[in-house]
Amino acid sequence: EMENVMRALISVYDKAGITEFAKKLEILGVQIISTRGTFSVLESAGIKVTEVSEITGFPECLEGRVKTLHPKIHAGILARRDATEHMDFLSENSIDTIDIVVVNLYPFKQTILREDATLAEAIENIDIGGPTMLRSAAKNYGDVSVIVDPDDYPAVLEELKINGKVSIETNFRLAAKVFIHTSHYDALIAGYLKNKAEIADFPQTLTLTYEKVQDLRYGENPHQTAAFYKEIGNVGGCMTGIKQLHGMELSFNNINDAHGALELMKEFDEPTFIACKHANPCGVGSADNIYDAFMKAYSADPVSIFGGVLIANREIDEPTAQEINKISLVEIVLAPSFDEKALEILMKKKNIRLLTLEGISDKRSKNEVDIKKVSGGLLIQKIDIGVYDDCDLKFVTERRPNEKELVDLLFSMKIVKHTKSNSIVIGKDKQSVGIGIGQMNRISACRQAIGFGEAYLGQSFLKSAVLASDAFFPFPDCVEAANEAGITAIVQPGGSKKDQASIDACNKFGMAMVFTGKRHFRH
Ligand code: 5GP
Repeated sequence: EMENVMRALISVYDKAGITEFAKKLEILGVQIISTRGTFSVLESAGIKVTEVSEITGFPECLEGRVKTLHPKIHAGILARRDATEHMDFLSENSIDTIDIVVVNLYPFKQTILREDATLAEAIENIDIGGPTMLRSAAKNYGDVSVIVDPDDYPAVLEELKINGKVSIETNFRLAAKVFIHTSHYDALIAGYLKNKAEIADFPQTLTLTYEKVQDLRYGENPHQTAAFYKEIGNVGGCMTGIKQLHGMELSFNNINDAHGALELMKEFDEPTFIACKHANPCGVGSADNIYDAFMKAYSADPVSIFGGVLIANREIDEPTAQEINKISLVEIVLAPSFDEKALEILMKKKNIRLLTLEGISDKRSKNEVDIKKVSGGLLIQKIDIGVYDDCDLKFVTERRPNEKELVDLLFSMKIVKHTKSNSIVIGKDKQSVGIGIGQMNRISACRQAIGFGEAYLGQSFLKSAVLASDAFFPFPDCVEAANEAGITAIVQPGGSKKDQASIDACNKFGMAMVFTGKRHFRH
C-alpha cells in the first residue's frame, strides 16, 4: 500500500515560504524528507518530517558538504517507474521513490557580490548536493516534479490537489527551468574562477552570464520584442550607475543611443556637451563652462539635435537648461547632476528623460569586450581603447600643425573614433564643424562633413578648421576637398600604399598632416 504515497525531498537554503508549502503538501498526504536545517524549520512548525540521514543511515558530514549524496536518495529520484529492473532494485534494497524534489542552492552569487568575500567563502558557497538532486530530478521529469523556483509552489500544489499528480507537461517545464538555473549557477562559478585564475580573455568555450532587468516595450522597431539583460554585479537598472530622475522608461533605442553618447563623453575631461542621434554624435563642443559647450554643440547642427540624446560632463545649470528647453523634442539629457532650477525647467517636459551619472570621465572603459551577434555566431573583441595620445605621431608634411591645430586635431579624432565608418570629422576651436558618418567611401564622408559645416556654420567658418579621418586616405581626393573648403590640417592613421599622394597634395596646399598609426573603424 506504500505505492501510492508520494514523497517530497525538501532541502532549501532560502527557507522563505517553505513551511507554508510543506504544510500544504502534508495536507495532501505527501511524506516529507529534509536535510538538517530544513528539517529543523519544518519540525518546529509542527510538520511531520523525516531527516535524510535517517533514510540514508549515514550522518550528514564534512560540515554539510555531504548530506544527500547517497544512492538511497539518488536511486529514489532517478529510478524509472516504468522500468521493472529499476523498481525491483529499489525494493530489493529497501529504497523508496522520491517524487517531488524542492531545492534552492547555497547563495554563491550573493557571496561573490559581497566586496569583502574571500575565495574560501566563495568556494564554500558552491553547492554540490543541491544541483545534483536538481539534475537527477530534472533528468527523471517523467516521474518526478522538481521545484527550484518558489514561484512554482502554487502551480504544483494546485495540480496535486485537483489531479492527485503533476502533469508531464508541468514536470517538463520545471525540468527545463532547473537546467537553466543550474547552468547559470555554474556559469557564475566559472566566471568568478576564470577571473581569479586569470584565464585568457578568449577561452575555448564562451559562457555569458547575464540577468534580465526588464522586458522593453519593444526593440529597435515596434514589431520587435526586446529585453535588457545586465551584467552580474551591475547594481543599477539599465546601464551601470545611471539614475533616472524624470520621464518615461528608457526604450531600446534610448539605451543604445545613450551608450554611444556616453562612450564618446568618456574621452573628454574639460566641460563638454555632446548631442547624439542614433548613437552617432551630431554636435560636440568643449569650453570653459557647460553653457558655452552646449552652444557649440547646438550651433554645430541645430537640425539633427531634434529628438537627440544630450550628454554633459558637468552639472546642467539654469541657462543651459533654458537653451535645451528651446529644442522642441529631446529624448534624453544625461549629466552628472542638474541644479535645482535646471531640473525645474526641464521636468516640465513630459517626453524628456533626465538621467544622472556621476564621474563620467572616471568611468573610462579599460578591459571590456565588445560583442556582436552575426549569423552563426558571435564576434568578440576588446573595445577600442585610447585615441592617439599614446601613439608616436608622425609629422609627414613640410609644415607642422601649430598648437591650436593640434588641439583641434585631437578633439576631432576623439569624435571620429565614435562615429560609424567611414567617417570624417571637421573641428575648429573645440567645436565639431561637420561630421560625415557611415559612408561607403571616404570622399563621400568628407563631402558630407564639409556640407554640414557649410550648411550650419557657414562656408567662411571652415577657414583654418582641421579634419580627422578614422582610417587612411586611399586617394588624395579628401585632401583636395579639404583644401578647397579652407581646412588647414589633417590627422589620419596613414598606412595606405598611396600615402605619398596625400602627403604631396598637402605640401602643395601648405597643409599640415599627422599620421597616428592607429585606426578607429567602427561598424
Ligand atoms: P539545510 O539548511 O536543510 O541543512 O541545507 C539545505 C541546503 O543544502 C540546500 O541549499 C541544498 O542545496 C544543500 N544540499 C543538500 N544536499 C547537499 C549535499 O550533499 N552537499 C552539499 N554541499 N549541499 C547539499
